[in-house]
Amino acid sequence: MAYARNVKKHSGHRSPSKKKSHKYLFVIGGVMSGVGKGIASSSIALILQNKGYKVNTVKVDPYLNVDAGTMNPTEHGEVFVLESGLETDQDMGNYERFLNRPLSADDYMTSGMVYAHVIEKERNLEYKGKCVEAVPHVRDEIIRRYRLAGELSGSDVSVIEIGGTVGDFQNALFIEAARILKVERPEDVMFALVSYLPVPGTLGEMKTRPTQNAVHQLNSYGVQADMVIARSTVALDQRRKEKIAASCNISAEYIVSAPDVESVYDVPLNFNKEKVGSVVVKKLGLSDKQTSLSEWATFVRKVKNGKQEVSIAVVGKYFDTGDFVLSDAYLSVIEAIKYSAAEVGVTARISWLNAKKFEKGNEVKELKKYHGIIVPGGFGETGIEGKINAIEYARVNKIPYFGLCYGMQLMVIEYARNVLGIEDAHTVEIHPKTKNPVIDVMPEQKNLIAKKQYGGTMRLGSYVAELAPNTIARRAYGAEQVYERHRHRYEVNPAYIERIEKGGLRFSGKSPDGVLMEIAELSQQEHPFFVGTQFHPEFQARPLNPHPLFTAFMQAAKKRKK
Ligand code: GLN
Repeated sequence: MAYARNVKKHSGHRSPSKKKSHKYLFVIGGVMSGVGKGIASSSIALILQNKGYKVNTVKVDPYLNVDAGTMNPTEHGEVFVLESGLETDQDMGNYERFLNRPLSADDYMTSGMVYAHVIEKERNLEYKGKCVEAVPHVRDEIIRRYRLAGELSGSDVSVIEIGGTVGDFQNALFIEAARILKVERPEDVMFALVSYLPVPGTLGEMKTRPTQNAVHQLNSYGVQADMVIARSTVALDQRRKEKIAASCNISAEYIVSAPDVESVYDVPLNFNKEKVGSVVVKKLGLSDKQTSLSEWATFVRKVKNGKQEVSIAVVGKYFDTGDFVLSDAYLSVIEAIKYSAAEVGVTARISWLNAKKFEKGNEVKELKKYHGIIVPGGFGETGIEGKINAIEYARVNKIPYFGLCYGMQLMVIEYARNVLGIEDAHTVEIHPKTKNPVIDVMPEQKNLIAKKQYGGTMRLGSYVAELAPNTIARRAYGAEQVYERHRHRYEVNPAYIERIEKGGLRFSGKSPDGVLMEIAELSQQEHPFFVGTQFHPEFQARPLNPHPLFTAFMQAAKKRKK
């Protein structure tokens, strides 16, 4: 796996050049959201990439947050961090996983980001006394970003997904910007509408009307859909394909049947059967090439063929709002587990355990039946004593444990309290006046917090860690140096490092200056797998490149099962 650092932030005011011919596929939602626009976009991008085209994928989020970092994961889903440190929507994670490569900050935009830029220019008198308006100024800023993302990535095709659905007021400017791009270069721009076709229980028949209406609504923006991806519980029949085609001015080969599938990873294979890639390149005037998704198909088979089932407990706090939401809040963690399970030939059954219930009493013994325990990233006080108890249980009972970010900080606190006897060891995030701040805030963070400058100011993005020889980490990665992505404000306090290491918990990954602790672990003589990372390894786990630490964890869990 390549851990190359790419710290390029947004490319400021740069104008894109107009020379190179570049293709754009806009993906817009119709009827309702949440039907898999992100997976559809990722799948088309994967197929085009497979045909030999370089593709970048752009997510447009119409909300006013400047980035996704300030949004609640239970409501909005996981915050996905790019190498550059930009905090983005979970769809960016899907794109990276499907394309098997990192995307840049220019591949993401929100209304907040666009408006902030326009307002900054206005304040700097860059509009030379003009009245600054949504059209043309905001619209043109969006167009500039569409083009720049394609140009800077050096791609042939940009797949640009506009969040929400076609009726939302807030995404109108993004559609308008796409329309202008199409007017300027009709040969290079196409539109796909990802729609939903209900099969009402009482009728038992698939209805096309809402989809027809959505296409017509898009028409009212002056945009003609070139393609409809028809999501439904079942496959679309030829008759309905023809019906949509006729009523929407689209040729039937551009109406794609996209029924529910067992796993999202089946989608590219299905699209390929439906010849999605071929019709897209035809519409964009590109030459068609044979698609071979054999590597992908092998991965899908591996996921489905896992022989034994291994039980993994994820102990956290964002699970209160029901099964529905929690899986989104930790999407990358789930995916990372899945890929590594497939890699070691098992299937992972993930149980979501609310940390609160481990705060008192004997409930923690429930953890005995699991083959591995994860405490993922998190913030704040809720459930943390329960997490610490779960970690202690995993350590004492030698259950494979993997701590991610907060899960590593709490692992250090647990060790300090229960092994080193520092009873009041804590993190200043929860207990600012603790006498033993084993997890402390970095000096530069103190000023930011005092000024309430929370947005985009954590330690974010890709940083290098050096790995010590003869450690689980070094063996798993097979490298001396790795780049991993961060998102946290607190760190292991340097004042306690010597004491902790003497007491047996080893920091096997450190920043090159030796100040920041990146990985903590117990030796394998003592425990089969007790590892925590200050970074989020899950952001770099990919279907075709499972993450080495997750794989080592799943290997240990598989062993426990035996
Ligand atoms: N709350 C901790 C911090 O800010 C951990 C953050 C996380 O788990 N992403 O340092």
